[in-house]
Amino acid sequence: MINFQFLRTSIVKTALSLVAKDPKATFIAGGTNLVDLMKRGVTAPEKLIDINQLPLKQIELKNNILHIGAMVSNSALAENAIVKEKFPLLMLALQSGASAQLRNVATVGGNMMQRTRCGYFYDTTMPCNKRQPGSGCGAIGGYNRMHAIFGTSESCIAVHPSDMCVGLVALDAQVVIAGAKGERKINFIDFHRLAGTTPEKDNNIQKGELIVRLEIPVNNLNKNFHYQKVRDRSSYAFALISVAAALELKDDVISTVRLAMGGVAHKPWRLVAAENFLKGKAATLANFEAAAKIAMEGAKAFGENDFKLKMAPNTIIEALTVAKAKA
Ligand SMILES: Cc1cc2nc3c(=O)[nH]c(=O)nc-3n(C[C@H](O)[C@H](O)[C@H](O)COP(=O)(O)OP(=O)(O)OC[C@H]3O[C@@H](n4cnc5c(N)ncnc54)[C@H](O)[C@@H]3O)c2cc1C
Ligand code: SF4
Repeated sequence: MINFQFLRTSIVKTALSLVAKDPKATFIAGGTNLVDLMKRGVTAPEKLIDINQLPLKQIELKNNILHIGAMVSNSALAENAIVKEKFPLLMLALQSGASAQLRNVATVGGNMMQRTRCGYFYDTTMPCNKRQPGSGCGAIGGYNRMHAIFGTSESCIAVHPSDMCVGLVALDAQVVIAGAKGERKINFIDFHRLAGTTPEKDNNIQKGELIVRLEIPVNNLNKNFHYQKVRDRSSYAFALISVAAALELKDDVISTVRLAMGGVAHKPWRLVAAENFLKGKAATLANFEAAAKIAMEGAKAFGENDFKLKMAPNTIIEALTVAKAKA
C-alpha cells in the first residue's frame, strides 16, 4: 500500500498554498476519477488536499452571467432551476454523463480535470506517452475503438471523456482560475489542449492553480437545443460520439448556432466551420447534411474507430434535427 496524507481546508488560500509548495500534493474533490487513478498506480500523490468544504458551491445569475462554483456537484447543477430554464443544453449534457450516483459526488472542477479513459493510460504495464512521456502510444496500431478522429498527433490519439465540457464549450463558458498571484480567466475553448508533442498535459491550468468557478453568458439558445450521445449502454458509458447543438431560429432561418462534439478529440471539439456555414441559412435537412460534411473535414480514423467517420456526421444531423423540432 502506498501511504498518503489527507488534509482538509475550507479556505481557498490555504488549499492553494498547500498544493503550491508541495510537488507531490494534489486536490481531491469527488474523488471519482482521482481515486481510480491512485488504485491503478497511474498516479501516486503523497498529500491529498480535500477541497469539498471550500465555499465554491454557488449557482447564481449576476448581470446576465451565470456563476457556477467549481465544487457544485454535477447533479446539483443539472437540477438547478436557472440551468433548466436558461441553459437546458448544459442540463442535458450533464444528465447524460456517468450514472446518478457518480453525478451526486462528481464536481464541476473535477469533471473538467478528469483524465482520458484510454485503456493503455490506465494499464501501467503498457506504453503510454500521456502517463509516461516517451514510452510510446499503445493505442496507435492497438485497441482504439474509443479514440479520436480530430486533432490527433503521433504521440497520442486519446479523447477527453467529459459530456459536461461539450455543453460548456458550446455555451461560450469562461473558466476562472485562482493561483498564488490572484485570479485569471480563460475561455473554455482554450482550457483543454490538443495532445501535440506534450500529451501528458491535458489542459492549460498550472500546478497549484485551482478552478474556482465557471461563468456562462445568458443567450437565446434555450428553445431549440439537443445533446445527442451515442454510447454502448444507455447509462454509465462514455460517449462514442456526442453532439451539443443549439439554434436560434427566426422564421426557420438560423440566426445563431452552436455546435460541439465529444468523443472525437483530446478536447471538447467546437464545430466552428459548420456553425459559420449554417448562420443565416434555412434550418433544412439539406443544410444540416452540408454542415455535417464540413464538420468532418480533416477527420482521420485509426482502424477500430473507423466507424466514427460515419457515426459522427449522422449524429450531428440528428442533433440539429431534434433541436429544430423542439420549437
Ligand atoms: C464508471 C464511470 C463512468 C463515467 N461516465 C462518465 C460519462 O459518461 N461522462 C462524463 O462526463 N464523465 C463520466 N465519468 C467521469 C466522472 O464524471 C468524473 O470522474 C468526475 O466528473 C470527476 O469529478 P470529481 O469531483 O470526482 O473529481 P476528482 O476525481 O476528485 O478529481 C479529478 C481531478 O481533478 C482535480 N480537481 C478537482 N477539482 C479541481 C479544482 N476545482 N481545480 C483544480 N483541479 C481540480 C483533482 O486534483 C484530480 O486531478 C465516469 C466515471 C466513472 C467512474
Ligand atoms: S492514446 Fe494517449 S493516452 Fe492512449 S496510449 Fe496513446 S498516449 Fe496513452
